[in-house]
Amino acid sequence: MKLIDGKTVAEKIHEQTHASVQMLAKRGHRPGLAVILVGDNPASRTYVRKKAEQCAKLGFHSVKLELPENTSQGELLAHVATFNQDPEIHGILVQSPLPTHINEAKIVHAISPEKDVDGFHPINVAKLALEDPSGFIPCTPLGCRCLLLEYGVPISGANVVVLGRSMIVGKSLALLLMQRGSGGDATVTVAHSRTLHLETITRAADIVITAIGSPHFLQAKHVRDGAVVIDVGINRVEDASQKNGYRLVGDVDFENVAPKCSLITPVPGGVGPMTIAMLLSNTIKACCQIHGVQVLHST
Ligand code: NAP
Repeated sequence: MKLIDGKTVAEKIHEQTHASVQMLAKRGHRPGLAVILVGDNPASRTYVRKKAEQCAKLGFHSVKLELPENTSQGELLAHVATFNQDPEIHGILVQSPLPTHINEAKIVHAISPEKDVDGFHPINVAKLALEDPSGFIPCTPLGCRCLLLEYGVPISGANVVVLGRSMIVGKSLALLLMQRGSGGDATVTVAHSRTLHLETITRAADIVITAIGSPHFLQAKHVRDGAVVIDVGINRVEDASQKNGYRLVGDVDFENVAPKCSLITPVPGGVGPMTIAMLLSNTIKACCQIHGVQVLHST
């Protein structure tokens, strides 16, 4: 069994992103990312802080807009409209979850598709399905594929089982891995909470990717010897030995599954760091496309 080191791969992507920032600077452009946070969710706050820190490290123009929990939908839409018009901003991200009085779909639809670096706008979802390379692909699925490619895992022709069918992860990942050409051409099965005979399905997979949100869900009995396992799940479980009283675990029963795998991602340190790396990489792509500069590297 070999561990897939997401931190190291993410660092490599950040170096490429930094090179792109320098290339863009020579042409008089600076990639800009606006992140909007509504309310006081501690996990969201941490994600937003990490994104801002990484932006600063790589030389991005970065704007962090923190709004109170009682921000109205109209006010939030007005902020999105301002960023849509702002020439210094190339990527806009509204951190989810949003307070329940705000219709998340309305907000996503309001973001200019050219600046939708999360890849959630219907135009970008359609572009993913249509295999149009100008679209933005959600960051976590992109990160998963990047890890597979970096570790030389054959994707073409592989039997891949994705657990979870959210747009943010499972469904987008399935579309991505079944695209024609490099990094795609997999035979993908998507499983969800209504799937029957899951064990039979996952045991036939060369690659199992879990995006459920259920700690230790994937057991040794679910995977065949030599399978590759990518664990997208991030779950908090109580742990009195930790300073904050919890620790993060994935969807995979790592201890028992890992010995059967040829490759497996840990949690934390697997897919997580890749998501920010792909976000900044998408922002470079947005900046290049808006200014008509050829994209240097593409993830
Ligand atoms: P979500 O929207 O809640 O979707 C969960 C999916 O899992 C649903 O499609 C659900 O099926 C399926 N599911 C639930 N129980 C199942 C079961 N027993 N068997 C098979 N499928 C089951 O969650 P998400 O946003 O996709 O996130 C999934 C996990 O990934 C979470 O732990 C999240 O924290 C993590 N995540 C990590 C990153 C990262 O950067 N690493 C990014 C995003 C998300 P139904 O559709 O039938 O309900």
